[in-house]
Amino acid sequence: MNTMNNLIDINSLDKKWQMEWEKEKVYEADPKIGKKETKKGKKESADTEKKKTENAEQNKKYITAAFPYPNSPQHIGHARTYTTTDIYARYWRLRGYNVLFPMAFHVTGTPILAMARRIAEKDEEVLGVFEQIYGIDRATAAKLTEPNALVMHFSREIEEGMKEIGYSIDWRRKFYSFDKKFNRFIEWQFAKLKEQKLIVQGEHAIPWCPKDGNAVGAHDTKGDMDPEIKDFIWVKFRLKGSDLILMTGTTRPDALLGQSNLWIDPHGKYKIVQVKNEKWVVGEATIGKIRDQCDPNAKIIGEISAKELIGKWVKGPIVNYELYILPAGFIDSSVGSGLVYSALEDPVDLYELRKTQADANLVKQYNLDQSVVAKLKPISIINVEGMGQDLGDSIGKEFGITSADQKEKLEEAKGELNRRVFRKGIMNKSCGKYSGMSVPNCQELIKKDLIKSKDAVMFWEIDNKPIYCRCGTQIIIKLLNDQWFIDYGNEEWKQKARECIATMSIIPEKNRADYLYTAGWLREKACARAAGLGTKLPFDKSKMIEALSDSTIYMAFYTIAHLLEGVGD
Ligand SMILES: [Zn+2]
Repeated sequence: MNTMNNLIDINSLDKKWQMEWEKEKVYEADPKIGKKETKKGKKESADTEKKKTENAEQNKKYITAAFPYPNSPQHIGHARTYTTTDIYARYWRLRGYNVLFPMAFHVTGTPILAMARRIAEKDEEVLGVFEQIYGIDRATAAKLTEPNALVMHFSREIEEGMKEIGYSIDWRRKFYSFDKKFNRFIEWQFAKLKEQKLIVQGEHAIPWCPKDGNAVGAHDTKGDMDPEIKDFIWVKFRLKGSDLILMTGTTRPDALLGQSNLWIDPHGKYKIVQVKNEKWVVGEATIGKIRDQCDPNAKIIGEISAKELIGKWVKGPIVNYELYILPAGFIDSSVGSGLVYSALEDPVDLYELRKTQADANLVKQYNLDQSVVAKLKPISIINVEGMGQDLGDSIGKEFGITSADQKEKLEEAKGELNRRVFRKGIMNKSCGKYSGMSVPNCQELIKKDLIKSKDAVMFWEIDNKPIYCRCGTQIIIKLLNDQWFIDYGNEEWKQKARECIATMSIIPEKNRADYLYTAGWLREKACARAAGLGTKLPFDKSKMIEALSDSTIYMAFYTIAHLLEGVGD
């Protein structure tokens, strides 16, 4: 290397050519016709002009990669993303194309706000990271107490880094997602969406600190944990000859089409809870959740033991037969609602049933009806290529499972089956109006149907719990009303997306399935937040547009950004 350095000073060569590029504006891409005409200042014949237009149409490329969020200095992920893009841009220039490669900065949302606040509070953790990892001395860091100052500090550093690497970017088109001109563009986009009825209002579950009475984002939590919210559905099973309703939580509502029996923790104590005008049977641990997310006035009005319920019959939604209640070793009355409905394509359910069927003592101990237990068998509802009719048995064999006691392996097998079913499963002929649907689509429709018929209630959970607020309180879920959503679940819109995907070149081709898959499961997405940088929601100015929602068609903005100096100021 030393010898090389003596021969060629790469760094000064870099500088020399980068200065040349800048002077000659070689990466400032404009539509070719206009530029050439002004330079030469002479009239071309209509024919030549037409030909040139055609050439310009054929020979232009617009290349872009997701714009960076400047809340830290440039890192290796930036280098990877934008170097790939730059190589691609340069490749097409060498092929004679007029290439536009622009860059901007996405600053929308709360992380930068939270960071500025923590610097203002002289937070040791943040200042330590700035000093030791980012190499920003304390005096400089202490000045970055305004979100704007932070954005400018890091974006300047990232931009300088990109220039140093030599990226072939047209920097005239740079903007920030909190610029007034960009705000106007996003307001226009949201007005359009609203006009087309693609903005809807409804309930929204958010991570919440009960002590502060505030919504919580990643930067408000200990260890910067981002609370991930998962929804699941509680399905009602009505006890025969009673007004009691047994509630079972599930993330697989599609499997209701193959429901076979109900499982209960034989040693569990269950509570009877008055929820609005219904009497629910649930595990005790769920009372708080019911009050937070469903009925603030819910109260315990009695107790019932598992023994009183085992061997009784319940009627659930969707199918027209009744289910038998059986004891199961894997159920814990202190977790969730403490009740689970069984669908025997699930390996955990299947092996538990086989164990029950083989255990004559158990049948006697709980005074079960032997003939009912013996008759239970899997109901096939989903086709997964290459897995046959009995999915539970097939995945069980694949994982070498022989007994219900192999709990870890069974959970693994169940996880794998869930993944396969979710990606490749198709509801089979026995599923009535749900036949032929993909599993995610079937799940969405069943959820909608059950909520509508009041046979189920939605609940939410923090998937990666426990997460603690910086104040030390554990984060919970709170349900807010009248939240704004972009209705990505709109079927007509999905169809248009599918048509677009069909015309796209996707490399590698196999990833096309992922685009279609996403178009399938996407549904309403909350698009407004109480605070953050960015654009105010034009029809509810007390709210800010959320970070992903203002970044769906921003690439179009690059094409005019450099022409809008001062717009909106
Ligand atoms: Zn708190």
